[in-house]
Amino acid sequence: MSTSPFNWKQFHSYRVFDEFLESFLIKRKSYVIQHDEALNLEEAFDDIEKRFVTDFDDSEATFEDKVAQQFNGASEQTKIVFANVEFLWAMPMENITPEKKRSYALRWFDEAEVVSGERYFFGYPHIIANPGSWYLRNKYFEIVAALRVLSLVTKKLGFTDLENLKTEIAKICYSSIYEGVPKGERFAVEKVCGIHSALMHLADPERHESIISASHREQICAVFGHVVEKPSADVEVLLKQIRAELYLSHGNNEDPDLKYRWFFYSKDVRPLWNDKTSKREQRVSSAIFDVRLEEDAEELEGAREEVTGLRILRSAKLANEAKLRDGYKCRACGFHFEDQIVHIHHLDPVSEYKRPKATKLEDLITLCPNCHYIAHYWLRISPEFKRLETLLAKLSAK
Ligand SMILES: [Zn+2]
Ligand SMILES: [Zn+2]
Repeated sequence: MSTSPFNWKQFHSYRVFDEFLESFLIKRKSYVIQHDEALNLEEAFDDIEKRFVTDFDDSEATFEDKVAQQFNGASEQTKIVFANVEFLWAMPMENITPEKKRSYALRWFDEAEVVSGERYFFGYPHIIANPGSWYLRNKYFEIVAALRVLSLVTKKLGFTDLENLKTEIAKICYSSIYEGVPKGERFAVEKVCGIHSALMHLADPERHESIISASHREQICAVFGHVVEKPSADVEVLLKQIRAELYLSHGNNEDPDLKYRWFFYSKDVRPLWNDKTSKREQRVSSAIFDVRLEEDAEELEGAREEVTGLRILRSAKLANEAKLRDGYKCRACGFHFEDQIVHIHHLDPVSEYKRPKATKLEDLITLCPNCHYIAHYWLRISPEFKRLETLLAKLSAK
């Protein structure tokens, strides 16, 4: 992984997030609406709570219509504060156009009053994610969740330091995602909200990957968790561990900045985990990934290339010896074709990731590609399939 610090602020989302916090939460000044006076955030949040949450309109009306109704006759301060929160909700997202992002503030304020330009309203690549259409569909809940985070840090008086403020925001969002939102708390939302992941990442991008969806996190951990020697129980830490294992060998066709920001969404990583929602699909994906690694390892060894990280350095000579010993025949199903199209499988692949030099001939067996994928599938279910007899019995019975 890169050792020089990554310059997050070259992308508007991270710069604007910091500016927003400085202005809105530390100086208590509006960010998105030109307004010189200090805001009384507590008072505004109380008013918003009453209009937007207590008097919640659960009709089928659109968000726009409801907001018009709920904030009818509200003070300028209430509208300014709401406009700032709505700005924060929309700002880092790709699937809301810059014009649309600005139009929210124009609902109540004139062209001249609303900040303008690419510095404030932007699209790709300055965004952090495309959270999908549910983020738009659940706008109401996402905004209530954002209000909760902002009002919690507002209540803790004395935030004069941006870094402390960001640490606190990341902490609140982390506990909202992993421990849930305490019932009865002001602006408490029970739904899983993407805004928590977004704010957590913006507040501490080095520690929290730019992943909005909870199911994306689960899928990544399920498919790749086994490559980490000592997987952390903390999902955020585990994601970083997985990233560290895969980083050198994956995503290398991406722009280095994109690889750093959206590693798991790289062209060669994303297809392995994305939409793999069932245990079975996740195991198949893990198996495909592992087989690819083993096959790559042989080629690399042949090229005498020095590669660190997850890639296995297995002797190509040893692999050939194993194929010769087995007569180029699949040990499970007997498949044989022109002394070609067979793979070499390591009976304990995970140990090979970690101690490549210790490989012995008896650790390797010849398998046809089909049996090889299936072998890794069973390995994801139980380590008992590291035993030759158990594995061959399973594969022959398939
Ligand atoms: Zn076979
Ligand atoms: Zn294998």
